[in-house]
Amino acid sequence: ETILRLQNISKYYYSDTSVTQALRKINLEFSMGEFVAITGESGGGKSTLLNVISGMLPFDEGEMYFRGEPTFQYDDQDWEEYRRNKIGFVFQDYSLINHYTALDNILAALVIQGKDPESSKEEAMAYLEQVGLTEQAAQRASQLSSGQKQRLSIARALAKNTDIIVADEPTGNLDSETGEQIVEILERLSHEKLVIMVTHNYDQAEPYVTRRIRLHDGEVVTDVPVNKRDENV
Ligand code: ADP
Ligand code: ADP
Repeated sequence: ETILRLQNISKYYYSDTSVTQALRKINLEFSMGEFVAITGESGGGKSTLLNVISGMLPFDEGEMYFRGEPTFQYDDQDWEEYRRNKIGFVFQDYSLINHYTALDNILAALVIQGKDPESSKEEAMAYLEQVGLTEQAAQRASQLSSGQKQRLSIARALAKNTDIIVADEPTGNLDSETGEQIVEILERLSHEKLVIMVTHNYDQAEPYVTRRIRLHDGEVVTDVPVNKRDENV
């Protein structure tokens, strides 16, 4: 089931003196149930691609389709809605509210969706449980270990209840064992979602991902299935 399709997407960055083409006619389709690693050397266009997919960065040419619907008709409000309700974000630096407890970080995400914090605690605890943070619910985010912080940021992304999760270098600040646990969690979630992860550490991700896309100089130079899954989502 295709959820996202990029057709001939190009992206340019302009400065006073130069133009950089960061994406060159990208054609990609993504389906539910995929766990995609986006790899490639620095400057290849990974962040740009992830930001385009996330609706955080406008592209210049081509078209992106979400659930078959072309996004050229989206106005600013539609894009805001897309970012808020269609994409769960996981960042390298966690982007948590540090003086809030783990539970309150999740509740804050639920409140943004218009939910009542008092009656949402059970739901919030369920997201914490999915990432193994039940015991840490009452701890401030600032007191958590790096791996726990990243797990909390995944739980916060889950709280948006989106079909797509994008993760930009989610293991970039973690030691390899902790990082692998994060990749493992993302793999588990990808069975019911589309998870797209930019990574500099493909070796760590390889046992878990279902697909590898490599970007070089703004072009897709590799797009291959990795670990076949039995189920059809
Ligand atoms: P990666 O994430 O693979 O390192 P990026 O998407 O960050 O690649 O960058 C792709 C290209 O676009 C690089 O040449 C980079 O210098 C350039 N670039 C990225 N962001 C900007 C920006 N905001 N302004 C100008 N050039 C940029
Ligand atoms: P990453 O490690 O995620 O690829 P980068 O170091 O490439 O991050 O870029 C970090 C930020 O700087 C991004 O928001 C990107 O858009 C911006 N950036 C990257 N290259 C340039 C550039 N040449 N000029 C201006 N901004 C840039």
